[in-house]
Amino acid sequence: MPLDLTRINAVISDMDGVLWRGDHVLPQVVEFFNFLRRENIPFALATNNSGKHPLTYVKRLTEIGIPNVEPWQIITSGTATASYLQSKYPSGVPIYMVGMPGLGDVLTEAGFVMEEEDAVAVVSGIDFNFTYEKALKATHLIRSGAAFVGTNGDLTFPNPAGLSPGAGSILAMIEAATDVKPTVIGKPEKAMFEVAVSRLDTDPAHCLMIGDRLNTDISGGKNAGLNTAFVLTGVHTSDDADRLKIRPDETYSGLGHLLSTWQNA
Ligand SMILES: [Mg+2]
Repeated sequence: MPLDLTRINAVISDMDGVLWRGDHVLPQVVEFFNFLRRENIPFALATNNSGKHPLTYVKRLTEIGIPNVEPWQIITSGTATASYLQSKYPSGVPIYMVGMPGLGDVLTEAGFVMEEEDAVAVVSGIDFNFTYEKALKATHLIRSGAAFVGTNGDLTFPNPAGLSPGAGSILAMIEAATDVKPTVIGKPEKAMFEVAVSRLDTDPAHCLMIGDRLNTDISGGKNAGLNTAFVLTGVHTSDDADRLKIRPDETYSGLGHLLSTWQNA
């Protein structure tokens, strides 16, 4: 069935490759979000990056002309992980974290204590200061019964020097050492989309996921029952859709194309 934009009452959008690419802001981004606000369509912005705090994104959005985004509207794999942990454990329990300070802040704000002793869970995200010692502590805790939770499974991420090891590569090492598979939260896993849909107070059938990555944004959105809009301003092309056999509900050249289509729907 083709995408019926008149049925959409909430939007989840990826950021990198949809709103911007590195330092370059993509065309018609501000106009698109002005349109959503005029039409009273609530939106959330979802990223698999657990290393940055939501307020960092709020600031960037303000700088590019989208002011007054509330922190709850920014869903990182870190804040989604915090929401997941809150649904499983009482406030105040110790958690051992492998990750960047931004993730630690988010987990602390959610009421958890970052402590190795008696940790009920090991939470692992991207960590530029990952060490053997951290892997060792995580391994011993998981082997002693602590839950193993990963913020996101991305094996690599791009940077100017080339593909770099991502959170998923760290998870793979700990999984190899423990023989335990992590519960992974970020896209394309369902948990991330469930958190976003619930924060937007909508249901998947009326929610649109916009993304540039077929194997995370689009396939994850589809698996979670959302409508999906694939934009060609990021990493994947229409040829990739054929090659990966991932079929978005609709493909747009960018947010400007989606905007003009929606305005005429
Ligand atoms: Mg992206």
